[in-house]
Amino acid sequence: MESVSTPNLETILAHAGCTVDPATGAVIAPIHLATTFERDADGAYPRSYEYSRADNPTRRLFETTLASLEGGASAAAFSSGMAAAMTIFQSLKPGDHVIMPDDVYHGVRVLATGTFTEWGLQHTTVDMSNLDAIERALRPETRLVWIETPSNPLLKITDIAAVARLAHQAGAEVLVDNTWATPLLQRPLVLGADFVLHSVTKYLAGHSDVLGGAIVARQTEGLFGRVRKLQAAGGAVMDPFGAWLALRGMRSLAARMRVHCENARIVAGFLSVHPAVERVHYPSLASHPGHEVATRQMRDFGGMISVEVRGGQQGAMAVAAAARVFRRATSLGGTESLIEHRASVEAPPTRTPSNLLRLSVGLEHPDDLIGDLRAALSVLDA
Ligand SMILES: *Cc1c(COP(=O)(O)O)cnc(C)c1O
Repeated sequence: MESVSTPNLETILAHAGCTVDPATGAVIAPIHLATTFERDADGAYPRSYEYSRADNPTRRLFETTLASLEGGASAAAFSSGMAAAMTIFQSLKPGDHVIMPDDVYHGVRVLATGTFTEWGLQHTTVDMSNLDAIERALRPETRLVWIETPSNPLLKITDIAAVARLAHQAGAEVLVDNTWATPLLQRPLVLGADFVLHSVTKYLAGHSDVLGGAIVARQTEGLFGRVRKLQAAGGAVMDPFGAWLALRGMRSLAARMRVHCENARIVAGFLSVHPAVERVHYPSLASHPGHEVATRQMRDFGGMISVEVRGGQQGAMAVAAAARVFRRATSLGGTESLIEHRASVEAPPTRTPSNLLRLSVGLEHPDDLIGDLRAALSVLDA
């Protein structure tokens, strides 16, 4: 028999959750809602499933699919991206030290500075695009360097391979929050990272109707062994229906990401020459400080844009209020475009500029998106 080469990511995605059910021949895997599984007469569990908090067939199918997309050995799925982040922190020990970006996802910052500081986890925040700053922050007790690239909401770019080299020399491991890029645009494990974190809620599930998270690991030993134990023991697991919906969403991820990227490029181009716009943060633009690294480590630049408008916070709020096609809501990665005044979501002491609007560019016709933004920005003409 001829050997079959490893399929491309688009093919893995198109077949996500499409394992033929041996009992019925159904081409889509069923949802296994059962919480408990039968033992044999001798007390053994020959099918390996015992109780759904520990393992569930639908959740496992999601986990193995995501692991293969990221090129990891294993994945653990959680009830949200933050449950995944919390589990990584819990897998460390009091006294351990974590280095995080100074613009890390707001929820991760809240968890690290609050609960986990009380619990004894130390952390330092640095500008992750500054390798010298990372080198200075590394300590003997540093266990983890946390990367988020592109970052939220300024789309700063971190050189994953360079940071992984520095961290590994110091005996630390590297986690990349890959929520904004997805494995289609960026594969951190291939670039040298040890863990990938996802908010599955965003592009992977892709329809603003599933809350989920995941951690993918390069190897099953070490820290990931503790993550896996905490997943079953703590129980913040992805539910079977969520896992099934996430797989359903992932089947169209490659097609969706193509349109997200194309629309975002068009919208960023429009905004970057608009007189009411002070600054556009999008890594495809040659003016973006991370453009060169992004071009090297990403296949495309994604669907997220931040824009600073004239008129400060009031101007930004007025533009958001005038939008019709862009919905005023937080979150990202759905088919519908969203606009958000980020500083007021994050609240003080946020460093996000008060005139910044974050756009999740959806799958609408680009003419409708640009028409909407042109009309909304015209409120600043008065
Ligand atoms: C949304 C998000 C999270 C948190 O995920 P939830 O599913 O909302 O808990 C973490 N990181 C990034 C980059 C996100 O966008």
